[in-house]
Amino acid sequence: KKKIAIMTSGGDSPGMNAVVRACVRMSLYLGCQPFAVYEGYEGLVQGGDFIKKMEWHDVRGWLSEGGTLIGTARCMAFYERPGRLTAAKNMILNGIDALIICGGDGSLTGADKFRAEWPSLVEELVATGQLTAEQVKPYTHLNIVGLVGSIDNDLSGTDATIGCYSALARICEMVDYIEATASSHSRAFVIEVMGRHCGWLALMAGVATGADFIFIPEKPREDNWKDEMTSVIEKHRKLGKRKTIVIVAEGAQDRHGAKITPNMLKDLLADKNGLALDTRITTLGHVQRGGTAVAYDRMLGTLQGVEAVKAVLEATPDTETCVIAITENQIVRKPLMKAVQDTKEVAKAIDAQEFDRAMDLRDTE
Ligand code: ADP
Repeated sequence: KKKIAIMTSGGDSPGMNAVVRACVRMSLYLGCQPFAVYEGYEGLVQGGDFIKKMEWHDVRGWLSEGGTLIGTARCMAFYERPGRLTAAKNMILNGIDALIICGGDGSLTGADKFRAEWPSLVEELVATGQLTAEQVKPYTHLNIVGLVGSIDNDLSGTDATIGCYSALARICEMVDYIEATASSHSRAFVIEVMGRHCGWLALMAGVATGADFIFIPEKPREDNWKDEMTSVIEKHRKLGKRKTIVIVAEGAQDRHGAKITPNMLKDLLADKNGLALDTRITTLGHVQRGGTAVAYDRMLGTLQGVEAVKAVLEATPDTETCVIAITENQIVRKPLMKAVQDTKEVAKAIDAQEFDRAMDLRDTE
């Protein structure tokens, strides 16, 4: 019976439980034995109770649960070879040589490294007497498949990451709440949303709520950004708008790479010699990760989990490690490291014209 381990790693995201549920049940359906690795790579390194056999009923009701029920963690030990050596040993002791990982680009990079190193790790386990040649015989190769769990939608090569639509829905809901009080008091709100390297959440939230102005890392602002923002907002106010919403991603910057912070924006909006708006800052923080997954993320997690099990069973020593993506509404397999590289080299392309057009539809009342 093929043994398949499933793990969530890195930052949690809504929909990860749908992934685990789908992987567990698809594995059983195909006659395999699934295992859950608790606490990400930490669980692989610790072994013991962190690696648990899973049955059909163990994941009952998981679709409607937020976060990840098998836990996630950052694991320093896994960055180093000795940590990965122990992880390999624990996998072999449990009879596992197929691993499905749902995480961000860091987790997926670690996974690819682990797979590439696997034969030499196995050799070392025998050479150092930790395992016998007989014990490692069936485990000459490690098959790995990645799934992207991230609220930021920050991986190249896939239209949506598992969790991004839940976070977006949460942000829109929060902005709606804030708008009510903003209108009542005729206030301005600077709302900081997550996204250090990727402005997808801020951009889509801005479009979806009709925000007055948005700052994202992919569109570094020109030197005149202060005038640009104040004149847009002044125009909106003159047209009778009683609320002002500015959405800023954590990684917002100007074209010199200097950070654009909520405090800077607040000072500008509140400037007595300028707009003189009663301005508040709201940092949404971890509510963006919280709560249950929206239907889209449950569906994406389930369909991609099913595909991941198929992919890990079909993988051979010669096939490249793949990540499960969704493009043009199709669940597809893509080379994992290319997606990670592309993410690093070319920030997810945002069409500046499309961006401006969407923003031109702002509600000016
Ligand atoms: P994310 O997966 O959300 O990008 P991290 O970058 O923190 O989050 O990665 C999660 C974990 O994956 C790390 O704590 C570490 O254990 C492992 N990991 C990340 N990058 C590597 C790497 N280059 N080599 C080995 N392990 C890694």
